[in-house]
Amino acid sequence: MLPSDFINALRQAAGAANVLTDPADCWPYGYDNSRRHALPEAVAFATDHEVVHDIVALCYRYALPLVARGRGTGTTGATVPLQGGLVLSLERMDKIVHVDVDNRVMVVQPGATNQAVQEAAAVHGFFWPPDPTSAAFCTVGGNLAYNSAGPRAVKYGTPRENTLGLRAVTGSGVEIRTGVYTTKGVVGYDLTRLLIGSEGTLAVITEATLKLTPLPETKRLLQAAYRDIHSAAQAVSRIMAQPVTPCALEFIDGRAIAMIRDYARIPLPEQAGAMLMIEVDGQHVAIDAAVDSIRAAAANQGLLEIKAAGNDAETAALWATRKALSPALRTIAPKKINEDVVVPVSRMAELIGGLDELAQEFAIIIVNFGHAGNGNIHVNLLVNPDDPAELQRAERCLDRVFDLVLKLNGTLSGEHGVGIEKRDFVAREIATPALELMRGIKTLFDPKGILNPGKMLPPLIADS
Ligand SMILES: Cc1cc2nc3c(=O)[nH]c(=O)nc-3n(C[C@H](O)[C@H](O)[C@H](O)COP(=O)(O)OP(=O)(O)OC[C@H]3O[C@@H](n4cnc5c(N)ncnc54)[C@H](O)[C@@H]3O)c2cc1C
Repeated sequence: MLPSDFINALRQAAGAANVLTDPADCWPYGYDNSRRHALPEAVAFATDHEVVHDIVALCYRYALPLVARGRGTGTTGATVPLQGGLVLSLERMDKIVHVDVDNRVMVVQPGATNQAVQEAAAVHGFFWPPDPTSAAFCTVGGNLAYNSAGPRAVKYGTPRENTLGLRAVTGSGVEIRTGVYTTKGVVGYDLTRLLIGSEGTLAVITEATLKLTPLPETKRLLQAAYRDIHSAAQAVSRIMAQPVTPCALEFIDGRAIAMIRDYARIPLPEQAGAMLMIEVDGQHVAIDAAVDSIRAAAANQGLLEIKAAGNDAETAALWATRKALSPALRTIAPKKINEDVVVPVSRMAELIGGLDELAQEFAIIIVNFGHAGNGNIHVNLLVNPDDPAELQRAERCLDRVFDLVLKLNGTLSGEHGVGIEKRDFVAREIATPALELMRGIKTLFDPKGILNPGKMLPPLIADS
């Protein structure tokens, strides 16, 4: 139960209409797309930087937990208020502050959706490269806090490569400005990149200076089917080694292909063990040459067929293959445990081979697809949530999946982050000296540990 003088001060800081305390009203702010839930004791909606500042300072004074929240579309439980306290929703801070066309910069409040940013940029012939599939619903604040991205990352990078600076409030209620307004700058430590991906554990972001990129004139999509994962993985390495970097290089494994064929009735080659969706963008005058270059790199002994879309309808038809996958997965199993591991591109075939062995050992169906150009593979363990034995096997299988990824010099998450879901595995990837530095950084930014407590960094044994 929160102290009543805290609630009064909160109403004063945010405005009474921007504070919820009734548990029924607070309930929807206690979950995210991980399907975990914990009830916040109050919810406040920030309307500008000063309000965020006052609220964080208030929570600091009372040493109360504060969880920043965008739209709650995250998949790893990072917005779930495990320790109660306050959920600070940024969804009403959604202004595009300004677009500076001459410098290719956009300044936004954190509650603007990714799609609103894309639409405001497109008016001037630009886009912001991070493109999570959830763009219509997720906020820039969430994108930054998770370093979220999508297919375009292979060519244009993630929020870390596309954000110039931030305004934020640390856990002790101190305003900081990080980064620069220019496309070069090397003064001081790079706090912008530190805050990006920190899952609301170091500071609440109140403004972001985004780096925009000119929209390409045109795009062309190719679909390549391979006999097996080895030839597809070899093609990925070859495609990434020639000068035309695709703006999407997506992968679908053999089991996924079979599902698409069976459930969506899309004709795909019977012998296909892997498929790549390759998109190139650029100028009209250069696009045919770019496609030729990709075709040449994609061709190897395992290539069964390659199709290039010639118009919008053909492009839509080719993407339909990829889009058919999620409904097909839902038909097979009511629940999927969706991981987003990353391995070096050259080791993707070993990863998929290892996953096949684990699927057999634990009698779990595993379907893999994802952003092959980055080696970022969505590993989906299909399970029946009403079968406790199967769930247990899946948990043990997942443990081994993470070991496999780390053995291949990979990382546990490419875009979904750690939150609570992967927190207990972090120490397998990050050794003690670096973890200790991270804990020290957390204490500097957030001396009372009020910001998103219990997330991202594994607890010290004594705390657990
Ligand atoms: C259908 C669907 C598709 C998705 N596709 C993708 C995808 O393609 N790629 C991808 O990377 N992710 C994807 N996601 C995951 C999710 O959409 C992204 O992680 C997104 O960036 C989260 O944004 P959000 O506004 O919902 O943030 P939330 O879930 O509300 O918060 C996420 C994290 O950000 C922190 N946070 C939010 N705002 C701030 C702030 N202003 N300051 C500090 N911390 C803050 C929170 O505390 C939390 O730690 C998908 C999710 C769904 C449901």
